[in-house]
Amino acid sequence: MTIYENHAHEQQSEHVKAVELGRINAKQLSIRLGAGANEFEAVQAVDFTIKPGEFVCLLGPSGCGKSTLLGALAGHIIPASGILDVDAQTIDGPSPERGMVFQHHTLFPWLNVIDNVAFGLKMRGVVKADRYEQALAMLKQVGLEDVATRWPSQLSGGMQQRVEIARVLINKPRLLLMDEPFGALDAQTRMKMQQLLLDIWGRIRTTLVFVTHDIDEALFLADRILVMSPRPGRIIENLPVNFSRPRRTELVTTPEFMLLKRHCLDLLNHEEGRPLPRLSPLGLPTDTNV
Ligand code: ADP
Ligand code: MG
Repeated sequence: MTIYENHAHEQQSEHVKAVELGRINAKQLSIRLGAGANEFEAVQAVDFTIKPGEFVCLLGPSGCGKSTLLGALAGHIIPASGILDVDAQTIDGPSPERGMVFQHHTLFPWLNVIDNVAFGLKMRGVVKADRYEQALAMLKQVGLEDVATRWPSQLSGGMQQRVEIARVLINKPRLLLMDEPFGALDAQTRMKMQQLLLDIWGRIRTTLVFVTHDIDEALFLADRILVMSPRPGRIIENLPVNFSRPRRTELVTTPEFMLLKRHCLDLLNHEEGRPLPRLSPLGLPTDTNV
């Protein structure tokens, strides 16, 4: 075992222990945006809990308030009313404990890959040798140890997002928050990134809240999907996704996957005033006409 593997191993055990942390509790949570006469309710009275280490997707149409809700979890947006806490502590501002990955990378263009990943450690005063060692171990976790000295601009979109994930995970966050992180990638890279993310999350377990408007992506990744209504965003379904792990691409063509996909489509296409489609006690939509 090399020094880096050894270190990665230690980090992994720490994370397995840390997975008792990262419990999210939201109660009657409302978020208002805009100012004065333009103020409006973007998220309306949502209730949910997320367990430590759980992978939850927020799925909903564009503009329904997904990013707003994720922004509140990151501490970038202060809710108008209700409860939003992590491990029984109210979120009152941004923290490295709650790391965010956006659709477009936010890497510092003037730092090379390893310095980008090591940045959070530098801010905490970790000495250079230690932070490089940890950053290299983290780059290895995302399969990028070979590009440690490259500049962000020299990387493909998929690689840039892997560096983003590494630079967030190096802070050992309780929450990993991802806002349509693969939305700008081509279909094939996107599928590879989804698999890679599941693989990383399997090794470095953290609570993961992943925003997407893509039903296939949500069903492929999540333990559970919270489906949101159009604006003002409310949670209209709490859908467990019990496909076994590890998940492989073939899953998306199975009849079980198609049934849940159809159910999600019905929810997203649902018109105001009509009763919401319900799942049968077997956990599958009653309408099997896929
Ligand atoms: P989603 O991520 O689901 O696409 P958002 O959370 O970004 O939706 O936005 C929810 C609604 O709030 C949208 O109608 C959007 O146009 C609006 N919005 C987002 N940010 C602001 C802001 N800072 N001020 C005013 N309106 C906003
Ligand atoms: Mg958004």
